[in-house]
Amino acid sequence: MSTQKHRFETLALHAGQDPDPATTARGVPVHRTSSYAFRNAEHAANLFGLKELGNIYTRIMNPTQDVLEKRMAALEGGAAALALASGTSAVYYSIINICRAGDEVVSANNLYGGTYTMFDSILPQFGITVRFVDHDKPVGFEAAINERTRAVYIETIGNPVLGVSDIGAIAAVARKHHLPLIVDSTFATPYLCNPIAHGANIVVHSLTKWLGGHGTGIGGVVVDAGNFDWTDEKFALYNEPDAGYHGIRYAHDLGELSPLAFVLRMRLVPLRNLGACIAPDNAWMFLQGIETLPLRMQRHCDNGLAVARFLASHEQVSWVRYPGLPGDPSYGTAGKYLRNGFGGMVVFGVKGGYDSAVRLIDTIGLFSHVANVGDAKSLILHPSSTSHSQLSPEQQKSSGLTPELVRLSVGLENIDDLKEALDVALKKAHA
Ligand SMILES: *Cc1c(COP(=O)(O)O)cnc(C)c1O
Repeated sequence: MSTQKHRFETLALHAGQDPDPATTARGVPVHRTSSYAFRNAEHAANLFGLKELGNIYTRIMNPTQDVLEKRMAALEGGAAALALASGTSAVYYSIINICRAGDEVVSANNLYGGTYTMFDSILPQFGITVRFVDHDKPVGFEAAINERTRAVYIETIGNPVLGVSDIGAIAAVARKHHLPLIVDSTFATPYLCNPIAHGANIVVHSLTKWLGGHGTGIGGVVVDAGNFDWTDEKFALYNEPDAGYHGIRYAHDLGELSPLAFVLRMRLVPLRNLGACIAPDNAWMFLQGIETLPLRMQRHCDNGLAVARFLASHEQVSWVRYPGLPGDPSYGTAGKYLRNGFGGMVVFGVKGGYDSAVRLIDTIGLFSHVANVGDAKSLILHPSSTSHSQLSPEQQKSSGLTPELVRLSVGLENIDDLKEALDVALKKAHA
């Protein structure tokens, strides 16, 4: 079935799947298999030699995963995608599929905590340097680029205060220096933003969050726009023969598949040899979530905005950050890059500081105290006593994480129940 011209809600249900020809099953079958029977020796040789594309082993590909990848590529307007074991492995593979020791990345500093640690502490152990710059100053990105830079990295809606970058301006800087722009768009999902339409080359998601939508599993995906020219010699991994795969030069030897050099290399090198593959059951579960993404995400946005407005007028709240509130520092860029709404994350400060924030967390009903976001259920976290407690007060302050900051992932409950729960807990926290 051609789904090329269909719109978002239709693609979320249909893209990438034709009913299984063998069984006519309407649902996407879960292919619980590690391996696939080759038709004959020649077929096997062709598959291994990349003369023919097909299933070899589930660490490298799986038919359930394949539907998920095609659906995500369609929803993001990309050329192809690769699903992985986690959002974390999707971020990691996106970097090491471009950079090797001695190379550099210029990244926004308002990152998901795990990504920040990877960039700040882990990548340097492999000789890859990440230069952090302010997410809201495109000129800062340009100033940090040098002859060793190989990629530019941002998040659509960042941490901790939900800053929205000027994707188009940063993409223009990357393009001018012939560098790929990688965008982690987890907090936006493709329902709110398609970074490729604004100049991104690679889009990363944690499927664990709103795409899966029910807090039931871990997964990630990388979408390749297929629009970056890797033949520039500075991308050594694409221009030198790969001893790990038949001496192939990914920028030169893929023929008509050459626009997919990035995503093919990611499958053939990091995925095949480092192994962060997604389980077929999880791939199925994320497809199940994506079918209702537009409906759920709309409710997350509606509830998120309503909660943000409610908190902004609450006596026990000192400040609120939500990109959809007029006056928010990101209101302008959010209006430019987000459609349908502003997402389900709301961040605010409780009057009374650290102690009041902790009391709020301990007394609130309905909001679950967990280290996750993007569940159908509402979630709450106090970063300075949990996820960021290892940082010194000075480090917390410099990353915008003040002691009174509370993070909400607003779920799909009735909005009046959410407001009531917040109101009761805020009053108790203050008492
Ligand atoms: C959760 C998250 C990740 C990491 O994804 P996992 O699936 O938990 O490994 C990366 N980036 C963002 C923005 C996230 O929210």
